[in-house]
Amino acid sequence: MRATIMYGAGDVRVEQVPDARLIQPTDALVVVTRAAICGSDLWPYKKMPQTDGGRRMGHEFIGRVEAIGSEVSTLKVGDLVAAPFAWSDGTCIFCQQGLHTSCLHGGFWGGTELDGGQGEAVRVPQADGTLVALPVGPDHALMPSLLTLTDVMATGHHAARSAQVAKGRIAAVVGDGAVGLCGVIAAKRLGAEQIILLGRHPARIALARAFGATDIVSERGDEAIARVMALTGGLGAHSVLECVGTDQATATAISVARPGGAVGRVGVPQEALMAAALSSFMKNVTIAGGPAPARAYIEELLPDVLEGRIEPGRVFDWTGGLDQVPTGYKAMNDREAIKAMISF
Ligand SMILES: [Zn+2]
Repeated sequence: MRATIMYGAGDVRVEQVPDARLIQPTDALVVVTRAAICGSDLWPYKKMPQTDGGRRMGHEFIGRVEAIGSEVSTLKVGDLVAAPFAWSDGTCIFCQQGLHTSCLHGGFWGGTELDGGQGEAVRVPQADGTLVALPVGPDHALMPSLLTLTDVMATGHHAARSAQVAKGRIAAVVGDGAVGLCGVIAAKRLGAEQIILLGRHPARIALARAFGATDIVSERGDEAIARVMALTGGLGAHSVLECVGTDQATATAISVARPGGAVGRVGVPQEALMAAALSSFMKNVTIAGGPAPARAYIEELLPDVLEGRIEPGRVFDWTGGLDQVPTGYKAMNDREAIKAMISF
């Protein structure tokens, strides 16, 4: 089969790899029908040291169950399934708490040991706990939005939940990538009355407004902070969704949070230490967030997608086949595309 391998910064190739196959009795073999390139794939694309073996890429995919191991009981061959960006058993103490990304028997796709989603097929460990069967066919019009549930929409939702968005609160979203845009959807869905997006890219701003952003702040640094304070009566936002992961984004997020507010962090931190520690301390700001337990959120968000109340699939503005994956990485990295979908 063919799959995407990243060998180093800027070096993504689609190559022949060993066929995915069942190994454990709890595995399922899934033939991928749709996959995506993630903003977090761009971090290694920018700075991964060159390697000989490379690493398999992709952690957002939907596909058809081709075979199941003898202990898989909730899925059958032919099911169309969504795979969250982490696999999990669904039964351990953390899965029972809804924190599937900390599963005691789980892990993440790709790397050097496992298949990635940006390939023709994937061996899915812990299939019963990991996969969610979808009640639609593989070419359904909602496929882009369903695909976002495997990561970016779940992650935007996690940012909003971690930032304690609730009815009547003011939310600020730092970052206009696909996750930030999904964060706008999530903030609106959870009842925020004012949603301020910090971003500057015209196409992304237009989409943010369509998703429910009430104010756009295109300044950066201190000017951005001043604008948010002006938009919030000088008090700051109750809930801040940090959807980037850089020091500057983290510092901005903490700076625009009001005293007693909360920052939900879902951008993968790019530094070892957290910015603005003293500011967050002095304001009693709650800092929360981490990798979203997408498996827990899919069931909550799925009805909203199926019934058309949210349309996160609009973040995809680039579609290509498996052969075009390297072009998709470049388009996202050059900010020519918000998010790339791979159609098989
Ligand atoms: Zn678990």
